[in-house]
Amino acid sequence: MMAKPKVFYDKDADLTILKDKIIAVIGYGNQGRAQSLNMRDSGLKVIVGNRKDEYYDIAVRDGFEVYSIDRAVKLADVICFLIPDEVQPAVFEKYIRPNLKKGAVLDFASGYTVHFGFIEPPENIDVIMVAPKMIGASVRELYLKGTGCTSLVAVHQDYSGKALDYALALAKAIGSTRSGAILSTFEEEAVTDLFGEQVLAGGQLFLLRFVFDLLVSAGYNPYVVLLELYMSGEAAEEAKKIVRMGLFKQLSLHSPTSQYGQLTRGPRMINKQAQETLREILDEIVDGRFAKEWELEKKAGYVRMRILKRKALEHPLNRFEEELRKMVKIILPE
Ligand code: NDP
Repeated sequence: MMAKPKVFYDKDADLTILKDKIIAVIGYGNQGRAQSLNMRDSGLKVIVGNRKDEYYDIAVRDGFEVYSIDRAVKLADVICFLIPDEVQPAVFEKYIRPNLKKGAVLDFASGYTVHFGFIEPPENIDVIMVAPKMIGASVRELYLKGTGCTSLVAVHQDYSGKALDYALALAKAIGSTRSGAILSTFEEEAVTDLFGEQVLAGGQLFLLRFVFDLLVSAGYNPYVVLLELYMSGEAAEEAKKIVRMGLFKQLSLHSPTSQYGQLTRGPRMINKQAQETLREILDEIVDGRFAKEWELEKKAGYVRMRILKRKALEHPLNRFEEELRKMVKIILPE
């Protein structure tokens, strides 16, 4: 059996290692804003590096000293690199690598660019990861609530001999060691994150669309179908129950008819062919084929992605969703 991972709590992390350091958060988007505010509220000296635009202005309004990315990196001891993964390599080569101090700490919120070899950091710095398992807005919200969100922490390169201490201190500053930060690796984070989003989120999108089409073509009312599938919010509530109670333990909240149906029909969907497909998708991630494909898509100007998104948004269910929202007030419980 696989050993339990090491979990770090507040008592295991010490902010003093960051006390006299300047932390530059590069990028002030989902994670950048949340992590900057949390770290500042935890008493750290945080500056922001961003291009001069909308995000720059938000950071200024939030009261941060905001600099160009290269200037922020020059000033910083610790760099939290929080811009989208696909643009990180170019920004790293142009603005970060030339300005990194020897002994600096470079922190990522995802293992993607380093694990798949798009960024090869210099040898004279620490390279760490604090990857919140939560969207940015909630990283902030949960910090303010006092609970914090869990993160994966990892060390890719330990130049100072204290790289893990830095990772834990950053995790503490954003609130993650309150709930528990788990020791992982860049590879583990990158692979599991991609696989989760591709097969769970991606699989769900197309399962729901297929089921919608199937039921509507069988003559059922599209509004009723959408309500049943996800628009009532019941499925979102079930997702919360899964987190709180457990995947199968929450079954007891459903009627016996529903439980029997789920336990007998669910496995039929995850048949041999589906299992094979899931394995293929995992292989494409692990051996780097997906990362290469996505890189080519970026180089081609995201043409395929734009077409796929346009097609998805042209599907009739988008219109039915809007109309249903006007017909029924859907309020999700907190
Ligand atoms: P965002 O899309 O929110 O990042 C937006 C920020 O990136 C803005 O400051 C934007 O500034 C800047 N940016 C975008 N393109 C460029 C560019 N070409 N050059 C310079 N700056 C640019 O990113 P996320 O917060 O979603 O993701 C950041 C990291 O966090 C990623 O590694 C991601 O994998 C990870 N992560 C994200 C989570 C999430 O919930 N979103 C969850 C956990 C981890 P500008 O105005 O200049 O465009």
